[in-house]
Amino acid sequence: MTSPTDPTPFDPDCLFCKIAAGEIPATIVHESETTVAFRDLNPQAPTHVLVIPRSHYPNAAELAAGEPATAADLFDAAREIAVQEGIDGPDGGYRMVFNTGAAAHQTVFHAHLHVLGGRPMGWPPG
Ligand code: AMP
Ligand code: ZN
Repeated sequence: MTSPTDPTPFDPDCLFCKIAAGEIPATIVHESETTVAFRDLNPQAPTHVLVIPRSHYPNAAELAAGEPATAADLFDAAREIAVQEGIDGPDGGYRMVFNTGAAAHQTVFHAHLHVLGGRPMGWPPG
């Protein structure tokens, strides 16, 4: 079990660990020392990118507790991706989402930041 004091750098059963390791193909759009970002397989907006930490944490809350600097790196990567994708700026705007827990529609239990943009967004979310 992963905990803030005992992070698992790689979980062999985890889809996103395998993507980060290059074992499963993905359309990578951004990389840093601590993060990898790739296009969502089932996009919910013209731009839908997932930003993940290279190390395995089951959700964003555990990542923030265990590796706060890497949690901040996810936001940095998202900002750079928004510029790359042209969804930033005064006429743009994008949504950053961490589904945390099954009831919040988390389906992959490796922390990931959804970056969605390129269309108007409604509120409240479903
Ligand atoms: P969540 O429901 O917040 O856990 O988000 C998981 C996301 O991962 C979903 O939006 C899926 O479409 C996406 N996804 C699942 N498998 C892959 C994959 N192999 N490559 C890219 N995105 C994926
Ligand atoms: Zn993982």
